[in-house]
Amino acid sequence: MSRIAFVNGRYVRHAEAAIHIEDRGYQFADGVYEVCEIWHGHLVDERRHLDRLERSLNELSIRMPMGRAALSQVLHEVVRRNKVRDGLVYMQVTRGVSRRDHVFPPATVQPALVVTARSSQPAAAAALAEKGVSVISVPENRWERVDIKTVGLLPNVLAKQKAKEAGAKEAWFVDRDGLVTEGGSTNAWIVTKDNCLVTRPAVSGILKGITRQVVLDMIERNGLTFEERAFSLEEAKQAKEAFMTAATTVVMPVVRIDGQSVGNGHPGELTRELRRMFHATAEVSAV
Ligand code: PLP
Repeated sequence: MSRIAFVNGRYVRHAEAAIHIEDRGYQFADGVYEVCEIWHGHLVDERRHLDRLERSLNELSIRMPMGRAALSQVLHEVVRRNKVRDGLVYMQVTRGVSRRDHVFPPATVQPALVVTARSSQPAAAAALAEKGVSVISVPENRWERVDIKTVGLLPNVLAKQKAKEAGAKEAWFVDRDGLVTEGGSTNAWIVTKDNCLVTRPAVSGILKGITRQVVLDMIERNGLTFEERAFSLEEAKQAKEAFMTAATTVVMPVVRIDGQSVGNGHPGELTRELRRMFHATAEVSAV
């Protein structure tokens, strides 16, 4: 089956889908994106992802490429046309195509929209979660506006490549005070020895993850102990459990940090429970 992408108003074969060489996303990383999980034929947390997309666009003074209801239809249609039951749908909006010039193009230039979808292998993800993953630490070197989900991801790319070369799945950025901000494409969490869940407040240094928010909802509903505060790399290494969250990984146990085992070196009980409960708490809509 050939894959289908949505590119600026048309459904086209993925292999032939193309954008203009003067798309500002291509030239300046002048654009934003979102990734939603597709789980058992359902879009996960679409409402919150679209809220965040609108916020990111707003922060950069880029218009929505189409109304929200129409965009939702496109997302669902791309998932349907690609027959994805478990996987991801990706949407990207850039400031559009215009002669190369740093300043914004005229208001008549339309934002550009690309939507793609692809299948994942739930069994492989489940097997990974059974074992847990390793992370390495890297110095924080990103700009201050990481709260905006821009396509400018070069530091994240370099950090995740470094992790891969070290045999790890993720890199955790550590700021000048020795505090963990977040992963290259995930939010970071620990569980303290007295079972308190800790994650950095979404005030500075992190993207306000949608999966993170669902975990916060689970914590509240289940009366779990929780603290929204920054934690150091050292505290993470001494923690009882650690995990990361993202639409791409859901709740993924972290069992090693910089080669040092977290807890007993196996996925923690609380982490496993949060992963099990996740889709009962997230908002899902049938494709
Ligand atoms: N932090 C960064 C830097 C990310 O790129 C992502 C997801 O792509 C996340 C956190 C997790 O966000 P979400 O749970 O909304 O997928």
